[in-house]
Amino acid sequence: MKTEVINITTEYEKALSEAKRLINDGEVVGIPTETVYGLAANALDEDAVKKIFVAKGRPSDNPLIVHIAKFEDLEPLVAEIPEKVKIMAEKFWPAALTMIMKKSDKISNVVSGNLDTVAIRMPKSDYARAIIDACGCPLAAPSANLSGSPSPTNAKYVFDDMNGRIPLIIDGGSCEIGVESTVISFAEDPPRLLRPGGVTLEKMTELIGEIVVDDAVLNKLEDGAVASSPGMKYKHYAPSADITIIKSDFETFKNLCESENATALCFDGENDSLSCPSVTYGDKNDGFSQSARLFDALRELDEMGAKNVYARCPDTKGMGLAVYNRLIRASGFKIKVI
Ligand code: AMP
Ligand code: MG
Repeated sequence: MKTEVINITTEYEKALSEAKRLINDGEVVGIPTETVYGLAANALDEDAVKKIFVAKGRPSDNPLIVHIAKFEDLEPLVAEIPEKVKIMAEKFWPAALTMIMKKSDKISNVVSGNLDTVAIRMPKSDYARAIIDACGCPLAAPSANLSGSPSPTNAKYVFDDMNGRIPLIIDGGSCEIGVESTVISFAEDPPRLLRPGGVTLEKMTELIGEIVVDDAVLNKLEDGAVASSPGMKYKHYAPSADITIIKSDFETFKNLCESENATALCFDGENDSLSCPSVTYGDKNDGFSQSARLFDALRELDEMGAKNVYARCPDTKGMGLAVYNRLIRASGFKIKVI
């Protein structure tokens, strides 16, 4: 299969009409969002959704997020809309925020990975919402990487993974946020945070009160444990390089990297004083700057052939929680406190 790329910033109408044609025809299209690129298909067409799992190599018990363009699109997809979801949607949507609810019978088991719930997001990206609107149906869309590798934050990385596997990628430039959405479940009360992302735990707690943070956000699931969010049990976000997170001050980190001739994954500016190879992932004091860089940095480590990587540890407050959550998975939970 030949994979075409259309730039929506320069060919807006063509991008929308081709995405609409292919998706209404039951095909899978790579689309830009503000978090990461998605692999989108008509969420109400089971056969189309199955093609997403094939293109990604995704295990079938890992459910997909369903993307909508406006609040009215939510009602037919869920059994009921909890009051707290209305409050959250009013305040945050469109946003990097996915809310899980009991599903309606419109949502097939292929989308929900056999769960009785469904995950719904209204993306902030104008391009993403325009594509959903043009298609006239909700779009099931996981991240547009091959299963297990870092999520793609630009169309080139989607092409690297999906060339020959899908007919079309819509290029909307670099993703503003750079890590996947916050996932929070309202199928229970108090709600449970399953994955930290662009809408922070602090901001949500301020609005709706208590939120339980699922164990898998910060810890490795024990073998055999049941995951609240099936995606959390799979190896994820992992580059080929072997990464260890180092909890220490910068001097100790520098000495370790240089004495072992490792590759450093460090904050902006710190690389100036390192004599070993390095890749930077944003401002030390700005979680959003780190999230925008993290997955690109992981791909760059692979491109330069890095084997042994030591990573600086981000703060876990605000957006830092999402960055830390991805980095501990990229490292296979290898953390050294020095
Ligand atoms: P991705 O599509 O790669 O961003 O992954 C979506 C994440 O949301 C995965 O970790 C899924 O396991 C999780 N997810 C999607 N739907 C549900 C659901 N109904 N219940 C729990 N987790 C879900
Ligand atoms: Mg993913």
